[in-house]
Amino acid sequence: MHTPHRIENGRKFRIASLSPTPPKNAPSKPDGIRATETLLPRLYALQEKLFADGRKGLLIVLQAMDTGGKDGTVQHVFSGVNPMGCRVTSFKAPTPEELRHPFLWRATNALPPRGSIGIFNRSHYEDVLVVRVHDLVPKPVWSRRYSQINEWERMLTEDGYVVLKFFLHIGRDEQKERLQARLDDPAKRWKFEPADLAERKHWDDYMKAYQDVIRKCSTPWAPWVVVPSNRKWYRNLVVASAIVDALQKLDLKLPEPDFDPSAIRIE
Ligand code: ATP
Ligand code: MG
Repeated sequence: MHTPHRIENGRKFRIASLSPTPPKNAPSKPDGIRATETLLPRLYALQEKLFADGRKGLLIVLQAMDTGGKDGTVQHVFSGVNPMGCRVTSFKAPTPEELRHPFLWRATNALPPRGSIGIFNRSHYEDVLVVRVHDLVPKPVWSRRYSQINEWERMLTEDGYVVLKFFLHIGRDEQKERLQARLDDPAKRWKFEPADLAERKHWDDYMKAYQDVIRKCSTPWAPWVVVPSNRKWYRNLVVASAIVDALQKLDLKLPEPDFDPSAIRIE
């Protein structure tokens, strides 16, 4: 299986040329939904094997603009996996203690143990996104972080981790509709945050920052998957197939028992 929208070398990546809607060769919506439904039981089985094998870990990074669908992706794609083998960490503005440490400290602390899946809902990439857009540290500091991140991710993959990073790309108009829907629908209103409107004003700066992230931090060992995310069904399909694809390539093995099962009699 091949993962669409996977970028291992982003040097020429241009975010302006990227459409947030499904490409022409995408399946129809009903076919796409069916395809995702067949992927989820496979994901369940692969996660169990990952756990039984115990030698590898999977780190999934989810980045998006507000309303981009990080929560929805976690809900849909991981609806079938065993919660015991999966942990979601949401990265908020750093605490005073986190700020007293290197920026990769809290990401390191949140790593999944081998045998399990860790999902970063936002991530260490905020340290070159929101931090850059709002000048939270001087440019010489944030501009060194791209290569620091690449080295950290390389260290992880050399140590038995698979690192998959998803940028859920929605258009500015789509964000407007989703924010409006949160305002209009009483059941969704709790999700509306006035602060999101302030961030929306910086849309172009964020796109520039995302473009640089994908240019500088797409590597063969930790690729970005840039997911056209205006349509939730297509987003879920791309994310689920990328994860199943990556787990399948791991050649996971059930451990051999260190006893002879045929010699055991259970009274
Ligand atoms: P949702 O709104 O769906 O609950 P969210 O990820 O937007 O999810 P919020 O609590 O609204 O969660 O926002 C978290 C905020 O923390 C974001 O604005 C993000 O940019 C900010 N943040 C994350 N990491 C950092 C960082 N290293 N430095 C500064 N701000 C950060
Ligand atoms: Mg938010």
